Amino acid sequence: MATVAVEVVYRGIFQKTLARNIVRSIVFAARKEGKIGTAFGRYGDSPERNGIPAKQFAIVADDAEELEENLARYEASEVDVTINVDDTMCKGIESWAWYGLQPINELTKPGGTLIVTSRQEADDLVQDMHQKDSPYDLSIIRSTVSFSGLWVYKDDHTDVRILGNLCRVCPQLVSLDSMLEAIREQFDNETKVASARRAYDLANVRPVEPGEGNPETPFKFELPGWKEMEEGLVIKAIDEGTGFRGGEEGYQPVRNSVFKKFSTRSMRPIVNFETCIKCTLCWLQCPDTCFDVTPDGLYDANMESCCGCGVCEAVCPVPDCVTMINEQHFDDNSSQYEAWQADADGYKQWMTNLIDVQKQESRTHGFHHVGGYAEEIAESAQPGGDN
Ligand code: SF4
Ligand code: SF4
Repeated sequence: MATVAVEVVYRGIFQKTLARNIVRSIVFAARKEGKIGTAFGRYGDSPERNGIPAKQFAIVADDAEELEENLARYEASEVDVTINVDDTMCKGIESWAWYGLQPINELTKPGGTLIVTSRQEADDLVQDMHQKDSPYDLSIIRSTVSFSGLWVYKDDHTDVRILGNLCRVCPQLVSLDSMLEAIREQFDNETKVASARRAYDLANVRPVEPGEGNPETPFKFELPGWKEMEEGLVIKAIDEGTGFRGGEEGYQPVRNSVFKKFSTRSMRPIVNFETCIKCTLCWLQCPDTCFDVTPDGLYDANMESCCGCGVCEAVCPVPDCVTMINEQHFDDNSSQYEAWQADADGYKQWMTNLIDVQKQESRTHGFHHVGGYAEEIAESAQPGGDN
């Protein structure tokens, strides 16, 4: 058997334990078959935000020499399976640092598989994912996003369902029997074993052909070399002379040209400029200083800076003035304030539609809808709930 590599792409702290469970279980299962493997994280420092994409890997080989050879590389250049536990990262991933945007399927090898937990249809997910020039398979596990995390572990079986699916789409990794045995030993829970087996039985794939998907070139930029040291090297400064409009125009918000957010968030705020009372709370409390003050004293959340934490929604004193919306509904980082100025009625209609759709959504930060998680678990347990 050649070396088999699996990466799990997850969001920061919330899903760290989930990712760890997956990669560790792969290694435990492999050992049952006399193989050798290791599991490790890409960002050991756990970016302290809920939305920052991060990775963990499992590498399985026939013998120690082969494993060591493959581990000499800091990060696998290609993997047999990419596991994405949050479908909004199908748009691409970015690290906590400023590396630009990496397609979710970048490391998925030709003929490999991308597993995604999602309630979206395959064609919708493919539209979000960047094109590749080689074919691969997409396998969807029907599920809402799991916010299993570092401090509170929401045990919704996402980990074992992924492991069951993995055995089906990548049979050269480990057999289902070995995986079930590893799950039984680790969790001592027959319901989890049954969940893994069920996910194995239900697994299906949708082939993705070369050239299918998002044709855009992901944002990237050249980092300055050591001979090009300049002021603001790590986080580039804004250009001198920008920022102040003068007179009553006030401050013109200017942002760093390279330190941008794309897929860091799983939800984003939308603002109702007509009900905003200009209380400044969102502007004061946003941990990423996202709110640009507009000439008429309103607050425009700058999507090139927003990490999607939901604090603005939580602090806004006006009902439904700031609403967090699932990121899957947006295609760009454009200004909401500018859209509202250009067409207030059109903006209102757009915003109302999104809020209506969001009410049907199960993705929540737990701020706006206290008790949402408990309801979600009860729904999933009903016949016809998550498979
Ligand atoms: S704009 Fe809102 S959701 Fe975005 S980072 Fe600021 S407080 Fe968090
Ligand atoms: S917190 Fe709400 S009401 Fe206050 S300025 Fe921000 S959007 Fe307006």
